[in-house]
Amino acid sequence: SDAGHGKIEDNPKILSGPVLTNSPNAVLSKSLLGRYNDLPLPGDKVLATYIWIDGTGEHLRCKDRTLSFIPKRPKDLPVWNFDGSSTGQADGHNSDTYLVPRALYRDPFRRGNHLLVMCDTYKYNMEPTESNHRVKCQEAYEKCKDDEPWFGIEQEYILLDSDLRPFGWPPGGFPPPQGPYYCGVGANKVFARDLVEAHYKCCLYAGVPISGTNAEVMPSQWEFQVGPSVGVTAGDDLWMARYILHRLAEEYGVIVTFDPKPVQDWNGSGAHTNFSTKKMREENGIIEIEKAIDKLSKVHMKHIKVYDPRGGKDNERRLTGLHETASINDFSAGVANRASSIRIPRAVAEEKKGYLEDRRPASNCDPYAVVDALMRTCILNE
Ligand code: ADP
Ligand code: MN
Ligand code: MN
Ligand code: MN
Ligand code: MN
Repeated sequence: SDAGHGKIEDNPKILSGPVLTNSPNAVLSKSLLGRYNDLPLPGDKVLATYIWIDGTGEHLRCKDRTLSFIPKRPKDLPVWNFDGSSTGQADGHNSDTYLVPRALYRDPFRRGNHLLVMCDTYKYNMEPTESNHRVKCQEAYEKCKDDEPWFGIEQEYILLDSDLRPFGWPPGGFPPPQGPYYCGVGANKVFARDLVEAHYKCCLYAGVPISGTNAEVMPSQWEFQVGPSVGVTAGDDLWMARYILHRLAEEYGVIVTFDPKPVQDWNGSGAHTNFSTKKMREENGIIEIEKAIDKLSKVHMKHIKVYDPRGGKDNERRLTGLHETASINDFSAGVANRASSIRIPRAVAEEKKGYLEDRRPASNCDPYAVVDALMRTCILNE
């Protein structure tokens, strides 16, 4: 393995940001809330957590409100607002920013009729904010609904301790080189499986279709897969899965990072996006898959620009050609090839139908932007 040597302090990325020596959350009692959790609320109140993407295009915010009815669909919920000047989404002198409910999930933290609500954001004049990529994605999906685009996204992430070093890594240095950790089992191979397990259950309860999970190549790196989800819903589902993960990790006093390369010379994190249309899934769909790959090959850089929140800058650190990635500068495709931009899974090549895997999206990508680009390039021929 080519795992890094030297001192972790040499890596500026990992130590950027405010550093705590321990997490205040980690030391709080985890059972006290249980004394109040089942208090009956007057008049069947429903608590709704509105969740949205902030001005970074990468981080989530949330706030709660009380409803006196049980919403059945997003439109039943009131449009709300927040102070966009505090989230990088508006100026201070005109800061009201609108939250429009788009997708409902059951709340695994409060249970009952309580809800998690995925929202998108609009400026004072009801124009989408800069970080709202959902609008375009929804429009693209409306145009290609009949092709039934499915997306299965593999979300990789890394757990950090409150000092922003990977959770469980030895003080000031590195664990033994990568090799035994991927799909590992054992107390010296994987850290915080409790959190991963809780996340899996909470997502399924909420209505996020997690299809699997595994420990990844770097210690304290994990993956879960969402989907297949249809069209724009793939974005709603993945963002909600991210929210649930951050929210659960609070309880453990652990930090989740979706940064695509927190530690140089170790595996980074991606959001491999598995994509198919109805035709690709039918007999001889491999022909459709190859057509899509041909289209993708012609607009490689256009996709790279929307596959991380910084126009390709984040992926520059990750798509180096090493650590199971293809170089950011070249487009490539291959059967069972994990060093290519696009991989055709072996089973798909054998059955001559199925899906392709786009390995380029960074772990901190906006799935609305990724799904939008794939539909527009491969189905709408834009
Ligand atoms: P890998 O072998 O790359 O690690 P995973 O098993 O982690 O693959 O993830 C495969 C993903 O592909 C899952 O999210 C799964 O739901 C998704 N998937 C399976 N079939 C299809 C399909 N026909 N279209 C789109 N996504 C699919
Ligand atoms: Mn206020
Ligand atoms: Mn995977
Ligand atoms: Mn993986
Ligand atoms: Mn993959």
